[in-house]
Amino acid sequence: MASERERLHNLFPDLDFDPEQLRNRYRQERDRRLRNDGESQYIETEGEYAHYADDDPYVEPGYERDPLDLRLDVVVIGAGFSGLMTGARLKERGIDNFRIIESGGNFGGTWYWNRYPGAQCDIESYCYLPLLEETGYMPKEKYSYAPEIYEHVKRVGKYFDLEDRAVFRTRVTQVKWLEDEAVWQVSTHRNDKIRSRFVIQATGPANRPKLPGIPGIRSFHGKSFHTSRWDYDYTGGDHNGGLTRLSDKRIAVIGTGATAIQCVPFLGEYAKELYVFQRTPSSVDLRGNKPTDATWYKTLEPGWQRKRRENFAATLTGQNLGEDLVADGWTDIARRILLSLRNRDTDGEALDMEELALRSEIADFQKMNEIRGRVDETVNQPHAAEALKPWYRQFCKRPTFNDEYLETFNREKVYLIDVADAKGVERITETAVIANGVEYEVDCIIYATGFEITTDAHRRVDFDTIGCGGLSLYDHWRDGFRTLHGLSSHGFPNWFTIGINQNAFSPNMTAMFDDQAMHVSYVIDEVKRRGKRSIEVSAEAEETWVQEIIRLAGTGPLSFLNDCTPGYYNREGTASQGTRQNTGYAPGINVFNDLLKDWREKGNLEGMVLN
Ligand code: NDP
Repeated sequence: MASERERLHNLFPDLDFDPEQLRNRYRQERDRRLRNDGESQYIETEGEYAHYADDDPYVEPGYERDPLDLRLDVVVIGAGFSGLMTGARLKERGIDNFRIIESGGNFGGTWYWNRYPGAQCDIESYCYLPLLEETGYMPKEKYSYAPEIYEHVKRVGKYFDLEDRAVFRTRVTQVKWLEDEAVWQVSTHRNDKIRSRFVIQATGPANRPKLPGIPGIRSFHGKSFHTSRWDYDYTGGDHNGGLTRLSDKRIAVIGTGATAIQCVPFLGEYAKELYVFQRTPSSVDLRGNKPTDATWYKTLEPGWQRKRRENFAATLTGQNLGEDLVADGWTDIARRILLSLRNRDTDGEALDMEELALRSEIADFQKMNEIRGRVDETVNQPHAAEALKPWYRQFCKRPTFNDEYLETFNREKVYLIDVADAKGVERITETAVIANGVEYEVDCIIYATGFEITTDAHRRVDFDTIGCGGLSLYDHWRDGFRTLHGLSSHGFPNWFTIGINQNAFSPNMTAMFDDQAMHVSYVIDEVKRRGKRSIEVSAEAEETWVQEIIRLAGTGPLSFLNDCTPGYYNREGTASQGTRQNTGYAPGINVFNDLLKDWREKGNLEGMVLN
C-alpha cells in the first residue's frame, strides 16, 4: 500500500506546498484562539446592556398606540425575510386573517437593522432577492447593497398587500397555548389581547446582537454602538459613506467578521484615527461586482430563479456536475474539486471517500493560498499583512468578499491591532481600549461582534412559548432542538417555526425560508380545509427526525468543525454531539425540498396528528 506521501505525490505531482505544514499551522492558529469559556465569553444584550439591542435609531422615539384586541387565524412573529415570505405564501393560499408582529419599525429584519456603511449581501442578488419573477424587479447589480434589498423587502410587502397585516414596533412577550379553546394567546409589550389559531415563529437566526464580555465594557464614557444599530447622527453620512462627523474622532472597531469587512473601508476613509482590533482575520476574496446586463435578464425563462437557486445549492454541495451558473467565490472550491476529479488520472482506480476528502482539502489549501497571496499583494506593511492572513479552511468561517478592505490598512492613521495571542481585547476603561498591554484612547467603540446565532435558543428571543401542560419550548429543547423537519415540535400544536436548525441549511437563506414558508402554509391550509381544530407532531415522528438529523450529520461535519478556528460555526470550538443535533439536513436544501414535496404529495400529513 502506498504511503500517504506517495499517494499525495501520485494524485498531485505538481503540488507546490506541503499539506502537512499547512495542517500544522492551522492547528496552531486554532489553539492560539481557543478559550476555556467558549460561548459564555459573550454577554447578553439585556439589563444594563439592553440598549445595544433595544435602541432603534431608525424611528422617531415616543411612539404609542392603543392595545389591539384581535382574534386571528395566524400570528407570524418577525417581519424579516422569513416572516415576509410566510405572509406572502399564506396569502397565496387565501389565508388572510393574520398579523405579522415585529419589533422594528418596518419589514426587513436583518436588512431593517443592518444599515451600516457599505452593507451588502454577498450572495448573488439573482438568487438572494426573493420573488423577482413575481414582482418583475431586476436587481441593479450581481451583489445588492443593503438599501436596494430594503427597498425590495418593502416591494414584496406591497405586492402581497402585507402592510395592513403588519404590527410594527411591538415586542411579543409570551406565547401560550390555551388547551380548552385550542388557540394561542399572544401577549405583547403593548398589552395587546391577541388570540390566534396558529403561530409561526419567524424570528430569524441573526436577530440578536452579540456583545463580547470584555472586562470594563460598561465603564466606557465615550460613544459606543453595535453595527446593527448604526448611529448616523454621530458619524454623519449614510450607507454610501460621507461619515464627515468622524473627522475629529478616534474610532475603535472590535471584530473583523463579514460586517467589519464592509464598514471598515468607510471608517478608514473618514475617521481621524481608526483602530481595528482583530482576533481572527476573515478570508477576504475578490468582490468583482458588476451591473446587471438587462439584455441577459430579459432572456431568462419563467421559473429561472428557482432553477438558479437550485443550481447554486447543488454546486455548493457537490451535486452539480454541469454548469455553475453563479460561478463566484462561494462556488470556487466546488469548481476546483470538480476539475480535479475530471483531470483524475489514476489508472482506473475507483474513487474512495478518502481520496475525495483529500482532493477537497487540497482544493481548499489552494484557494486559501490565493487568499493569503492577495493579502501580500495588497497590504504594504509586512506586519499588518502577516496578521491579516487567515489560516483555516475557507468554510470554517463565513467567507467574505471585498475589494477595498485590505487596502484600507495602507492608509495612514489606520491601525490593525492583532489580539489573537490574548484571545481578544483585554479591557475597556472610561476612555480607552486596552490590548496586549497597550492603551488606545478612543472617542467611540463600534462593536462589529456579530449575533447570537448558535447560542441557547431561548437567549435569542425575548419571550417564552408555553405549550401543552404548561411546557416551555425551551425546556423541551433543553438538550438540543426537537422537531419534525425543523418546523414544528411535539407538545406545541398549531405552532411552527421558520429557521436554520434541523432543516436544510443554505447560505442563501431567503431560498430556504421561502421553501419552509410554502410548506408551513400548506399544512395550515390542510388543517383548515379538513375542518380540524389542531395539528401536532407525534412524539415518535419527532424522535425519528432528530435521530435522522444526527445520523446524517455523521462524524464528518463534526470533525471538520473541531479542526476549525473558533467562531460561531463551531460554538467557539466546542462543537459536540449537541451540535450534530442542531445542524441542518446534511444532504442539502435540494434533497430536503424533494423530501418535503414527497411528504406533501402523499397527502396524509405523515407524523402529524390532527384533532
Ligand atoms: P461575526 O460573528 O462573524 O464576527 C464577530 C467578530 O467579533 C469576529 O471577528 C470575532 O473574532 C470578533 N470578536 C468577538 N469577541 C471579541 C473579543 N473579545 N475581542 C476581539 N474580537 C472579538 O459577526 P459579523 O457581524 O461580522 O457577521 C455575522 C454574520 O452575519 C455573518 O457570519 C453572516 O452570516 C452575516 N453577514 C452577512 C453578510 C452578507 O454579505 N450576506 C454581511 C455581514 C454579515 P473571532 O473571529 O476571533 O471570534
